[in-house]
Amino acid sequence: MIKLSAGTAKVLGLKELKMDVPPTTGYLLLGEKCLYNCGFCSQARESKARPNLLSRVLWPEYPGEQVFALLDKAYRDGGLKRACLQAVHGGTNDYVNLKETIVKIKDNTGLPLCVSAKVNTSGEVGALLESGADKVCIALDAVTPEIYRKVKGGGFEQRLLLLKECAQVFLGRMSTHLIVGLGETEEEMIRVIQDMVDLGVIIGLFAFTPVKGTGMAGFCPPDLSHYRRVQIAAYLIKGGHCRLEELVFHHGRLAGVSLAKPDLHELLAEGDAFRTMGCPDCNRPFYNEKPGGIIYNYPRPLTVDEAREAIRQSGLMG
Ligand code: SF4
Repeated sequence: MIKLSAGTAKVLGLKELKMDVPPTTGYLLLGEKCLYNCGFCSQARESKARPNLLSRVLWPEYPGEQVFALLDKAYRDGGLKRACLQAVHGGTNDYVNLKETIVKIKDNTGLPLCVSAKVNTSGEVGALLESGADKVCIALDAVTPEIYRKVKGGGFEQRLLLLKECAQVFLGRMSTHLIVGLGETEEEMIRVIQDMVDLGVIIGLFAFTPVKGTGMAGFCPPDLSHYRRVQIAAYLIKGGHCRLEELVFHHGRLAGVSLAKPDLHELLAEGDAFRTMGCPDCNRPFYNEKPGGIIYNYPRPLTVDEAREAIRQSGLMG
């Protein structure tokens, strides 16, 4: 059995769901109840959240063979362009099961596959890539050692070292997840974004989303203007339009960009800076958003008015 995000189940024809924007990546989840205890995660060891949740998304379960056949059909129809397999860390057996699942997905579908799992060595990452993953995600989530320890309970430096080593060995095949709003400043987040871009690591950018029953259920999501500024900096750095050293910070907050205003406006006018950032074709609809609520990550192109409003929300254009 394998879990699918509710949106993915809808795209595969397995579930009735009202959906404004379909996912362009099929999101799969393997396992339940993690050995680790990240404060933001519904699957954490001590989380009291519903077991079929990850972030605010529901993950119904279906037989693997049925899912693989439907994934391939969706790939051929053009509905899905990628698959993303997230493995909850349950121990050695789960690691073996993970590798077998990767092989099955590769053998039965044409989809490029990224795998997000708790790995401890570059050898384990290599084994996942050899099994058929196109990319492997080592999620940092938090961007400072103190926040990492508080929220995830563990060593940030070790994780970063492993990610750096893997980025050098497996060029262009590593990704990471960064969560905005865990208590870091904009400067701390953007510094790590620059490091990741320099390493060729793909960044999946998330807004912290409090989920009932998790350790951080009582915390607030990031202020939208804070998130918009991080999105703009990430977009500019990723696109090679500027580097961290060319950004101006005031008490940790992004206060300016050393680009002429018309140039900056032109770069942002299409609104691409505010679309979901991650692996190619990963749009994660409503992963951080309630339908009808604030949209942190747009899962589709923005309208001219939406782009204008997002730029205004950043407070960067005066
Ligand atoms: S960026 Fe998207 S596709 Fe890539 S690992 Fe993260 S969730 Fe999966």
